Amino acid sequence: MTSLMNRSLAQVDPDIAAIIAKEERRLAYNLEMIASENFVSEAVLEAMGSVLTNKYAEGYPGKRYYGGCEFVDAAEELARARARAIFACEHVNVQPHSGSQANMAVYLSVLNYGDTILGMNLAHGGHLTHGHPLNFSGRSYKIVPYGVTQETETIDYEELERLAHEHKPKLILCGASAYSRVIDFERIGRVARDVGALSMADIAHIAGLVAAGLHPSPIPHMDFVTTTTHKTLRGPRAGMVMCREQFAKDLDRAVFPTVQGGPLMHAVAAKAVCFKEALEPEFKTYQEQVIRNARVLALELSNAGFRIISGGTDNHVMLVDVFVRGLTGTQAEKALERAGVTVNKNAIPFDTQPPMKASGVRIGSPALTTRGMKEPEMKVIAGLISETLADFENESAAKSVRERVNRLCESFPMYEGRLVRSSAQTK
Ligand SMILES: *Cc1c(COP(=O)(O)O)cnc(C)c1O
Repeated sequence: MTSLMNRSLAQVDPDIAAIIAKEERRLAYNLEMIASENFVSEAVLEAMGSVLTNKYAEGYPGKRYYGGCEFVDAAEELARARARAIFACEHVNVQPHSGSQANMAVYLSVLNYGDTILGMNLAHGGHLTHGHPLNFSGRSYKIVPYGVTQETETIDYEELERLAHEHKPKLILCGASAYSRVIDFERIGRVARDVGALSMADIAHIAGLVAAGLHPSPIPHMDFVTTTTHKTLRGPRAGMVMCREQFAKDLDRAVFPTVQGGPLMHAVAAKAVCFKEALEPEFKTYQEQVIRNARVLALELSNAGFRIISGGTDNHVMLVDVFVRGLTGTQAEKALERAGVTVNKNAIPFDTQPPMKASGVRIGSPALTTRGMKEPEMKVIAGLISETLADFENESAAKSVRERVNRLCESFPMYEGRLVRSSAQTK
């Protein structure tokens, strides 16, 4: 064997080893509040870094285009069985590389180019793949958007219903990237059946809550349910599609060979691990805490004079109007970053600011909850956010918050073993 094959990362590539070490430190010493992010377990990381990355396995278990698939077949079967156990779906495809590819596979399995999709307005919380003009979805299909009402900032189900009758879409989409309220999947499913449309829920954000029974499941009401596995579900960065049995063949053909070639079998195995974790009682306790933490955070921020879109949150995420306190979302994101709090700027519904500035930030509780933080820490963090934004151009104020963030982070260690190992290796 060549000498390249048996050396550590630090020996082969000190540059990348140092970058990973820095990222481990960044994760450990910042308050990660991006609503779509989370920290996976050591077990999931181990599967992701396994030799399964070597295997070509085009096709499906028992029907592969390559030999040597007996073990990866078993991994994919486990992932599928566990997904079915968690979500009670009829059919599941665990191969999508990402949430976007999961959505693409559904569209390509049932739509023709130019067909009409009724989907949630991106400016009101929808996702790129639900019809952004630069995304394949917006370029391939006719998109009719529905949104939230100006008064309640919750989904305007009456508008959705009216538009469905008016445009007779082939597919009705629901699910969002920045929506803090329960989505009435039953009602949307009924509208779809009334107008003869197919229905799809994209639960990328809330999959963990659905898995734990803390958000009503879309499975009984929708033809297709897509998700990512790396947000609240806390698995590897990847996607998945569930559907009714009648669409199973078309869906599987759309994932492979229409959208993808060989599946990432290390990621499929890591999904199986994530699903095993999701079947543990501890997972439900975690998701309950995610919701409790988000509620406390929303309440405290609102007491500090920020406006929470729709007045609060039912899930893991909130949209916070910072413009009411005199700064844009971009200014808030930058100031918070200096203070060690990671969030993203986000447009709010009916935003008066241009998208690159935005009036809001999107904040989520999943990653901090994984670290073990609870309600008392959320109160402290809301105070730190408010203090930072009160004087958002003052770098020394941000620095003072930064020190307290460091201390808080030290009390809730993250990937401790890795930090120790990589600092020893990169010395
Ligand atoms: C995150 C997200 C996706 C896409 O996930 P990627 O894995 O980044 O492609 C799709 N839909 C919704 C609603 C999302 O929030």
